[in-house]
Amino acid sequence: PAADQEVFAAEMERTFIAIKPDGVQRGAEDCLELGFKLVGIKVVVPSKDFAQKHYHDLKERPFFNGSCDFLSSGPVIAMVWEGEGVIRYGRKLIGATDRQKSEHGTIRGDLAVVVGRNIIHGSNGPVTAKDEINLWFKPQELVSYTTNAEKWIYGDN
Ligand code: GDP
Repeated sequence: PAADQEVFAAEMERTFIAIKPDGVQRGAEDCLELGFKLVGIKVVVPSKDFAQKHYHDLKERPFFNGSCDFLSSGPVIAMVWEGEGVIRYGRKLIGATDRQKSEHGTIRGDLAVVVGRNIIHGSNGPVTAKDEINLWFKPQELVSYTTNAEKWIYGDN
């Protein structure tokens, strides 16, 4: 929500991406081909309490309880992706919250049917990305490494 207004800079950053229980059940676990670097991944069934923490900024909304029940209803594939502009690019690839408004070619636009079952989550700004990564991952669960492709992705001049 308010975080959507955050300023995005083209700098190395990390974002939190999660395939929600419907995405896992529908076999969409390999639907995320960001071309960015995966630095953390695990499969978890979040507790209701944990889901409430994840969706804390929605607690006044009528769908808060339903969204928390749903997120804790089965396995979630939790990931941290890294790269320049990865937060905004991740959101673009995922598509609008409401499937009716998400573009064809986005994950939600192609796979989701209703807003409450929209397959995938991605942090909506730098502040939420940091909070969500801290909530879902311990620092030692994230790795730092250099890929051979990096100079071709970023150049060196
Ligand atoms: P997101 O950042 O695009 O996921 O969107 P929000 O942060 O606004 O909402 C979080 C999640 O709550 C969404 O991904 C949906 O699963 C759910 N949600 C949002 N709006 C609605 C709604 O109007 N109805 C229902 N049932 N769920 C909603």
